[in-house]
Amino acid sequence: MEVWFVTGSQGLYGPETLAQVEANSRRIAAALDRDLPLTVTWKPVLTSKSAIARQLAQANVEADCVGVIAWMHTFSPAKMWLTGLDALTKPLAHLHTQAEAQLPWETIDMDFMNLHQAAHGDREFGYATARLGVRRSVIAGHVDNPKVLARLVAWARAACGWQATRAGSVMRFGDNMRNVAVTEGDKVEAELVFGSDVNTTAVNDLVAAVAAAPESQTESIVQECLDLYDAAPELLPGGERHESLRDAARQEAALKTLLEAAGATAFTTNFEDLGGLRQLPGLAVQRLMAAGYGFGAEGDWKTALLVRAAKVMGAGLPGGASLMEDYTYNLVPGAECILGAHMLEVCPSLTTSRPRLEIHPLGIGGRSDPVRLVFDTDPGPAILVGLADMRDRFRLVGNSAEVVATHPPMPRLPVARAVWAPQPDLATSAECWITAGGPHHTAISTAIGAAEWGEFAEMAGTELALIDSATTYPAFRDRLRWNQAYYRLARGL
Ligand code: MN
Repeated sequence: MEVWFVTGSQGLYGPETLAQVEANSRRIAAALDRDLPLTVTWKPVLTSKSAIARQLAQANVEADCVGVIAWMHTFSPAKMWLTGLDALTKPLAHLHTQAEAQLPWETIDMDFMNLHQAAHGDREFGYATARLGVRRSVIAGHVDNPKVLARLVAWARAACGWQATRAGSVMRFGDNMRNVAVTEGDKVEAELVFGSDVNTTAVNDLVAAVAAAPESQTESIVQECLDLYDAAPELLPGGERHESLRDAARQEAALKTLLEAAGATAFTTNFEDLGGLRQLPGLAVQRLMAAGYGFGAEGDWKTALLVRAAKVMGAGLPGGASLMEDYTYNLVPGAECILGAHMLEVCPSLTTSRPRLEIHPLGIGGRSDPVRLVFDTDPGPAILVGLADMRDRFRLVGNSAEVVATHPPMPRLPVARAVWAPQPDLATSAECWITAGGPHHTAISTAIGAAEWGEFAEMAGTELALIDSATTYPAFRDRLRWNQAYYRLARGL
């Protein structure tokens, strides 16, 4: 994936000045190429309406281009930019910078001032983008400044997540869990807003694929599990429940085959619709999430979509992303925290420890005991994001949190889990989340944070109601009301 670095100027300055603009612009693009987690491709300096329109139209159609960084090195009269910007569909970062951080006080003359005039060139560009209502992020400062770089990195990661979401595909095995409200939603609208298609596949097809899973593939998955995890003795070869592990491996092979054949990037299951599956897919789902697939349980395709986006945004970073569910609380004053887990399906990318491979009964689903990985999520910063269909639009709700290590062990809890302290405190977090109608399923990420999700929401044109250390309940409730009015107006008629 790459972002394009475009520089605005005008013909008025003559070839000598434009050559200096080009040299400086190449230098900044090269610095960003070195420091951003993707390729930054320099594009020739733009000085005319037709060149601008052509360049931005190309960005729209180029599949590898996930976004455009624009900088007005000099003044670039912005009426030239209107048509191109109006048609731009890729994410835009408006980088408001200068070639040099230091003003040469002793030697500065009119030539220097005319060359380095982003201070007003970028304001002209800002007026045009504001007037058009272009979704964008304005990032100001010198590119050597770590804060500027961090903002650009977050934007670039979000752009990769957005591109993956635009091109994403969620495969649903079974419908949503009966009678549940929040996992429902408008799949047509979701495809329009997020780009991901959301279509069903018959559970019987999965059952058939499990039966047809090649023995060699099954065997290699079993071997990998025995290498990577501490397996309970009963699951080992020769153990009395080894066949359950083999069945889980066949499920993984089958799911992978179907996902790959369809080009799907995420999937859902529903324990109410398991057809002839012998166990609720647990281990298989956990391992496929670890391989980069999004997942939502109980037919929750919206969370599947978010987990996939979080995985792409956090690619290459320490930490991981997973389906998560707010399960139960510790309400002891001073030690308030949320214990999150799911029936089985939590991604082992959340731990650097060696997961245990176990088998236990599960009342839900009415099948044989499912095999699962059990572990504790690594302590550290995390963010939880959920997606709700508010009838006329989607709303993202986010909460910054800290996964805590200071809780006693839970030897009798046979599922993977995370224990976190939500910001700013449990009561405010829960009051705000519930007031916003945020779901009980979320995508948790320990690799990225609010900055990446904030940029992602901007790219998606979707509200992100973020609960963080600065949140208060009255202000958050007011903000939801204002947002409700804004997003309704912003839709138009
Ligand atoms: Mn659930």
